Amino acid sequence: MSRALLSPSDANRWVRCQASVIAQRGILSTGDRTAATAGQETHRRGAELIRGACRGLPLPSGYEDPIALEYAAHVIKILRTFGVFGGPCLGIETPVNCSIVHSECHGTPDFWVYDETNNDLMVIDLKTGYRPVRARDNWQLICYALGVAYTLGLDSDTHVYLRIFQPTISDKQFDQWPITLGALKGPEYLEHLQACAEIALDGMSMAIAGHHCYYCKARYCCDALQSAALDTADYLGEPIPNETEGQTLATELTILNHAKVMLTQRLDALTEHATAVIRGGSQIPGWQLSERKGRLAWTLGADETAAALGLIDKSVTLRKPEELITPTQAIAAGLDPSVVAAYAKRSKPKLVLREDNAKEIFNG
Ligand code: SF4
Repeated sequence: MSRALLSPSDANRWVRCQASVIAQRGILSTGDRTAATAGQETHRRGAELIRGACRGLPLPSGYEDPIALEYAAHVIKILRTFGVFGGPCLGIETPVNCSIVHSECHGTPDFWVYDETNNDLMVIDLKTGYRPVRARDNWQLICYALGVAYTLGLDSDTHVYLRIFQPTISDKQFDQWPITLGALKGPEYLEHLQACAEIALDGMSMAIAGHHCYYCKARYCCDALQSAALDTADYLGEPIPNETEGQTLATELTILNHAKVMLTQRLDALTEHATAVIRGGSQIPGWQLSERKGRLAWTLGADETAAALGLIDKSVTLRKPEELITPTQAIAAGLDPSVVAAYAKRSKPKLVLREDNAKEIFNG
C-alpha cells in the first residue's frame, strides 16, 4: 500500500496544521535518517517476534535488539490476556483502511487486538524515540482505532484502549488512554478529524507553527515557522523586569518554553537544508561542512560483532565492564538506606510545566 496523503502517522501534525499536507508534497527528506531507519528495523523485528510467538515459538534470550524484545514480550502478555493469537481480531503490522476519516486516510498500526467476549479493543503504537509521546488525544492512535472499529463493525459501547509503548522513556514503559468507541465517534474526535482532512486537501488553509513542526518536511521553507522563530528572536531581546513573578512569571515561562521549540525547529530545519545544499555542490556564504570525522561505530549488533572479532583476536577485551546498579536498586536488594545515603544523592528538582497548565495560566 502506498503512503497515504492523510497518513494516520502524520495526523498529530495535520490536525494542528492542515496546510502541512499540501506544503510537504514533492519535498524529499534531507535530514539524517539513521534514527528513523533503526526505528523501522526495531518495528520489523518486534513484529517478527510477536508473529513467531503466535506460532508457538519462544522469545529468544539475549536478542540483539532489546527494545524489539521488550515490546514483543509486552504484546505477548496482552495476547495471553485477550486469548487471541490469530484470525480477523488481530493485526500485527497489518494495513488498516481509515476511510471513515477520509478516503485518503490509511496506514499500518503496529499492533491491535479485539476481544469479542468483553468487547475490548486495544491499539498499540511502539515509539523508539526519546521525546515522550502521550496516548491521550493521540490522533494517530485515534485514526487507527476508528479504522479497525469500522472494519470490524464494532458498536459504540466498545471499550477502546489506546496505548503508546515507549521503553526509551525512563519514567514508565507505556502510556494508556481508555475511552469508548462512542466517544471517539463524536464531534470531538471523528468529526474533527473529518473536518481537518477536508480542510487539509482544499489547499486554502493557513500554516500554524507549533511542536508538531518537528518532523514536517516543509519546515525549512515555511513562512509560518520562520515568522514564529523571528518573533521569538525579537522577544528575547527585550529586557527582563526584576519584579517578574506570579502570573507574569508563569506566562513568560510558558511562552519562552514554546518559543524555544519554535527556534529549535527552525534552526534544525535550516541546518538540514544547508547541509543538503552544500553536499549537492553549492555554496552558502560563511558556512561549510566540518572536516571533523564522525564517531566510528560497529556496523553489526553487539553480540555479532563480539563473536566475529573474538574469532580473529582473543587477546582484546571487547566488552565494557558491567556498570553498578542504581542506589534505589541497591536499597531494594537489601543494602542499608543509611549506608546508601552516605554514597548517593538526588539530583536537584527540575522545573516542569504541569499538565493542562495553559488553561490555568491563560485563564481558560
Ligand atoms: S513547518 Fe509547521 S507550520 Fe509549516 S507547514 Fe509544517 S507543520 Fe505547518
